[in-house]
Amino acid sequence: MLRNIQKKVRALFPSKAPARPVYQRQEIPRDQHNVSRSMISEPAKKVLNRLNKAGFEAYLVGGGVRDILLGEQPKDFDIATDATPEEVHELFRNSRLIGRRFRIVHVLFGREVIEVTTFRGNADNVDADDGDDRKTNEHGLLLRDNVYGNQEEDALRRDFTVNALYYCIRDFTVVDYAGGVDDLHNRQLRLIGDPETRYREDPVRMLRAVRFAAKLDFAIEPVTEAPIRELAPLLTHIPPARLFEEVLKLFSAGYGETTWHLLQQYDLLAPLFPETVRAIDEGQPDELIVKALQNTDDRLRQGKSVTPYFMFAALLWPALQAEWQRRQDNGEPAQPALHQSIGKVIGRQVQAISIPKRFSGPMKEIWELQMRLPRRQGKRAYAIMEHPRFRAAYDFLLVREAAGEIEPGLGQWWTDFQAADDRERERMLSQLGQQGPRKRRRGRKPASQRQDG
Ligand code: ATP
Ligand code: MG
Repeated sequence: MLRNIQKKVRALFPSKAPARPVYQRQEIPRDQHNVSRSMISEPAKKVLNRLNKAGFEAYLVGGGVRDILLGEQPKDFDIATDATPEEVHELFRNSRLIGRRFRIVHVLFGREVIEVTTFRGNADNVDADDGDDRKTNEHGLLLRDNVYGNQEEDALRRDFTVNALYYCIRDFTVVDYAGGVDDLHNRQLRLIGDPETRYREDPVRMLRAVRFAAKLDFAIEPVTEAPIRELAPLLTHIPPARLFEEVLKLFSAGYGETTWHLLQQYDLLAPLFPETVRAIDEGQPDELIVKALQNTDDRLRQGKSVTPYFMFAALLWPALQAEWQRRQDNGEPAQPALHQSIGKVIGRQVQAISIPKRFSGPMKEIWELQMRLPRRQGKRAYAIMEHPRFRAAYDFLLVREAAGEIEPGLGQWWTDFQAADDRERERMLSQLGQQGPRKRRRGRKPASQRQDG
């Protein structure tokens, strides 16, 4: 079955020389690898089989193959095919065509989404006037990437060699075009092609390098690692909405703490969180962030959920503290200074990474509640507990205590108060009343450590 795309590919790739001749196709037969069908989800198998039956090539690719080869359970399954997105969409009623920069198909099975992408071609071979679908700007940034290609071209436009392995469900072979199997054994991340070019095409690949290094406990191979620090500022060219998605992936994979340190090490934090980096450089502690990420990692390991607004509340905390302190040093009263600071910090942050309103709202509330949590007298404690963000704010308070930012005590009080019955609660509150709210404070702490106004 000769399809349009194959003709299109030939038209687009007239040159005989392969783009990157160093790479050689290798096929690893079923008895020489550990990918078994039982490790692939039923929906993924269904999609592979139906595509094959309809006469298309279809392979499991990316993290699905990589993680199985590493003996890990893949997070999701990606499929590459020579069927066009429209052809895939036609085959699956339960599918959606999505994306502009990459047109892909999501096939939906309940909560599982199988991402199906059509083989993509390689920029280097595109003729100037034909290259309209794969354009780069003056920084080398890939603006569009919708040239279809064959499997080899598809492999070579992927990011890391270990992400360019294909599993064929028809003959159970693993196909490797870029030496990914060797890199997998050596536990290293190697970009396909010239790293600088590939990072310029898509600076997010620098974040992916760090994300996979943290998650897989792989080294970033020296040539792949070398240009990162210098090119890190290119991330500012990425649309804030895409960066938001990438940052969520960075910190919600269960390796947030390692990721944080790697981002620092590669100068990748500044383009993402410029104000936080400035605040830390100016002496604000980053312990709270580290503790919050440890906390997040622990929760994920226990199978609990984590919320983006909690993560962002922590990641921007040093920036908020710096701004708040600056305003108080200028004589603004604590409470209005906090409100102003919250607005400013979020306003500046969303220029780098957009934070959807459904997350920035709760994030503000967590911050604001930090001022309310110490003021528990009378009916206040009950009112605070009714707040929809109480639980998150309480968790945040515990992290602040663990980070040594505030003296321990308040967190335990709230822990006890939640567990107590009505009588006990009244007793706790009356004890507070005797002490009086003002006298609790021993001396004036620096603004950054003050919990209330
Ligand atoms: P995981 O899903 O476990 O986070 P993954 O490797 O599957 O890891 P995805 O973001 O799901 O990552 O992408 C699937 C595949 O698409 C990757 O393995 C890679 O081959 C390719 N890919 C994704 N993003 C890029 C990119 N920015 N540049 C080049 N190839 C990419
Ligand atoms: Mg994936």
